[in-house]
Amino acid sequence: MSQRRKFIKQSLLGSALFIPGISKAFTTVSKGFSPGDKPLILSTWNHGMPANDAAISKLKSGGTILDAVEAGVMDTELDMNNLSVGLQGLPDREGITTLDASIMTGDGSCGSVAFVRQVKHPISLARAVMEKTPHVMLAGEGARQFAIAEGFPLEEEVLSPKASEAYAQWKKTSQYKPVINIENHDTIGMIGIDANGNLAGSCTTSGLAYKMHGRVGDSPIIGAGLYVDNEVGAATATGLGESIIRICGSFLIVELMRQGRTPQEACEEAVKRLIAKNRDIKNIQAGFLAMNKEGQVGAYAVHPGFNFAKATLNENTLIDSKSHF
Ligand code: ASP
Repeated sequence: MSQRRKFIKQSLLGSALFIPGISKAFTTVSKGFSPGDKPLILSTWNHGMPANDAAISKLKSGGTILDAVEAGVMDTELDMNNLSVGLQGLPDREGITTLDASIMTGDGSCGSVAFVRQVKHPISLARAVMEKTPHVMLAGEGARQFAIAEGFPLEEEVLSPKASEAYAQWKKTSQYKPVINIENHDTIGMIGIDANGNLAGSCTTSGLAYKMHGRVGDSPIIGAGLYVDNEVGAATATGLGESIIRICGSFLIVELMRQGRTPQEACEEAVKRLIAKNRDIKNIQAGFLAMNKEGQVGAYAVHPGFNFAKATLNENTLIDSKSHF
């Protein structure tokens, strides 16, 4: 079990402090975090550290914030040690790895793919949906056909050695029902803002391990796993997708920020809402990560163990999120 999946003690994000003179909607800022710290990239979990590095280096080489959030999570999609993102991720209960991804910019442009097979970089396919089709979301075989048409190479459908071993183990004891617990999710969600205040976000996952074939989580659903609005800020989610979809988690957080909540307050309210709307909460982990257009940060999870990486041009730091329980 990876470190981030363990329930560990959390450190605190700063509490709110009044800053006069900034726009009405954003009258507080987290302690120790000055407004205007841009560009800024945030990513879920500790695989967010190398992903942030990739995003920042894309920005440094002249890429846009959209290029940066794509390049950042592409790094995770290739990480053979990550069993929750990319084709090396854990399969569904039929032994097939299917991927979900979404991408969005602050002007409302967005694209996503769901239940897609054999595509190494679903985030780039989601970007192609956004930029080259009149649609927002392509799923399954249609997404795969679009990948072929766009010249994405299709990978052979073989489980990675680690996924194959884990699947063999799971089959021994499986009761052949979806596993819904806190141990099987580690999606990367990344949100970023450039020096001019343009926001973008990306989210990519192999989804819940041993899910039913055809199951789609929150990650490719705009408003659930990811939402970005240049007027307000951005949010992304990780954890049990069903619980996040039920409350339109990322959209909810952006809307709460629009109404004047800090990113931290908005993430906490979303977790509260999620707890209220989901049964068996002791077996559900979900975490949210948000930033507003001022560059303030928020993160909150149902249970301890969620962390995120925060990068500026000069510094990349792993931070433990607070949690409800
Ligand atoms: N949110 C993802 C899903 O439910 C899982 C994860 O966060 O790892 O598909």
